[in-house]
Parts: sequence; structure tokens; C-alpha cells
Amino acid sequence: KAKREQRGGFQFYSNELNTQSKARFDLTQELRRAVQNDELVLHFQPKVDARTREIVGAEALVRWLSPTRGLVSPGVFVHLLDEMGLGVWLGEWVLDRACAQMREWQDSGQVSISVSVNMSPAQFERTSILEVVRASLERYQLDASCLEIEILEATAVNDSDKARQTLVALRAEGIRVALDDFGTGYSSLVYLTRIPADVLKLDQAFIRSLPDDPRQQEIVRHIIALAKTLSYTVVGEGVEDEAQLSVLVAMGCDLVQGYLIGRPVPADEFAGRWLR
Ligand code: C2E
Ligand code: MG
Ligand code: MG
Ligand code: MG
Repeated sequence: KAKREQRGGFQFYSNELNTQSKARFDLTQELRRAVQNDELVLHFQPKVDARTREIVGAEALVRWLSPTRGLVSPGVFVHLLDEMGLGVWLGEWVLDRACAQMREWQDSGQVSISVSVNMSPAQFERTSILEVVRASLERYQLDASCLEIEILEATAVNDSDKARQTLVALRAEGIRVALDDFGTGYSSLVYLTRIPADVLKLDQAFIRSLPDDPRQQEIVRHIIALAKTLSYTVVGEGVEDEAQLSVLVAMGCDLVQGYLIGRPVPADEFAGRWLR
């Protein structure tokens, strides 16, 4: 009897696996079609001065506008594209679209703002980002100061010489480098003195704890102070209410991003609300 149950258990497990891998297979197929049919879109989220709330930039965030699934978030498909070998393609597509958008905004006489683009670790290791970035800026005749590249803390701390050299080269070119989701990785603050980057984006997990968790608040205060001492621009991510914003302002945080200020929206909507 025990054996039977075991087998039953195994059967159940294996069916579930099949269902899972089928769902994954379907998603992969759909994604392949999505890429062919040009179903990916960029949304833009405002980044503002923490004190004045004036617009200083936008983060480009990719979405999949699926005819059957609706608007799919990058958390669901970016890693799949990576596994499908399309990570490099995605990175180049996002860069191209972000730069095309900046050109359009500049041509229509709107204030020029900078746009940040997220880079996946794979992209960072496998390609010459510098070449790709140069080509995009050149194609749309944009100044390097328009562009900011966001990488995860772990990618930067990885300590591979290649990653480091790429960061150094990007900055030498005038492109800003931002450490995304800072504080979620395993790195110690000591890395802040060694990573070649300009901007520190405090992860939303920290922001969420403000202002109710006094110990966490002290940590945030010290990270901001240290980052400022080391000449980083500090961005608070995921700011959802006024209380969080005022704590961040009091701590000297430079810029903020979050639903309180604005959600990521399509380019037209972004321009309508934030540019003139
Ligand atoms: P991220 O770069 O840290 O982007 C911030 C995420 O937080 C975005 O989620 C954004 O919509 C969300 N967010 C912004 N403000 C708030 C807020 O006030 N509250 C809450 N709860 N969330 C907020 P999204 O767009 O789903 O992107 C998730 C992650 O996917 C991004 O995290 C980034 O790592 C990755 N990603 C997005 N676009 C790209 C891309 O073009 N290429 C690559 N490689 N990764 C991307
Ligand atoms: Mg980001
Ligand atoms: Mg982030
Ligand atoms: Mg994130």
C-alpha cells in the first residue's frame, strides 16, 4: 500500500511537472511570436527631484503587450528571453527604442531628459555593451549624457574584470551608471568605494520600511550619508506615499521614483504629463 501511494505521489508530481513544463513551453512559443510580431513596448516612469518634484529623467521599462494575455510584466518574460538566447537582442532593442524616443522628444522641442535603461547580467557579460551603446547614440545623434545604464548590484560586484572595465569605459564616454536595487544583494558597503558607478538606487524594500521601522530607517540614513560622501547621486525607488518621501528628503536623498510620483506609462502619456 505504501509503495502504491509512493508511486501515486510520484505520478502526481510528474504530472504537475508536465503541466509546468507545458505552460513554460507555451509561453516560450508565444514569446517567440511576440518578438516576431513586435509586441514588446517600452513604458516610461518619471524620476524626479525629491524636493521640488521636477522631472529629471525617466526609466524605460519593457512590457509585453500580448493579444491574449494583456500587458505582461518583465518579471515574467525577461529571464525567459535570456534563456531563449534572446537576452542580447532584447537589450539592443530596448536601447534602440529608448534612444529613438529621446530623439523624438528632442525633435518636438520638448525639454530633454535622460532615460535609464536596464541591462541584464547576461547582456553585460556576453556582449560589448559599449559598442552597442555608442551605435545607438550615434544613430539618433544623442549626447552620452542623455543615457543612464542600470545594472544590478550583483552584476557590478561580481568583480569580473570585464564587468568593471565595461563600467569604466561607459563612464569615460560620459554615460552614467546606476546600481539598481541596491541593498538586496550580498555586497557590503565597502563595495561602494570600489564600484565605478554614479548613481545608487535604493531598493524598494528599504523604502517600504519607512517610516515605521526605526532600525531600518537608521540603515537607510547611513547608506544615503555614505553614498553622498562618495559622490553618488541617490535615488529612492518605489516611493508610494508622502511619509516615505518626506523621510527621504530629510535624509538627503536626491531623486525619487515611485507610484506616488507616477507609474510607468506609454511614451505619449509620459510626454503629455511630464514634458512640454
Ligand atoms: P527595476 O529596474 O528595479 O524597476 C523598478 C520596478 O518597480 C518596475 O517594475 C516598476 O514598475 C516598479 N515600481 C516603480 N515604482 C513602484 C512603486 O511605487 N511601488 C511598487 N510596488 N513598484 C514600483 P517592472 O516594470 O515590473 O520591472 C521589474 C524589473 O524587470 C525591473 O526592476 C528590471 O530589473 C526588469 N526590467 C524591466 N525592464 C527591463 C529591460 O528593458 N531589460 C531588462 N534586462 N530588465 C528589465
Ligand atoms: Mg531599474
Ligand atoms: Mg530597481
Ligand atoms: Mg527590481
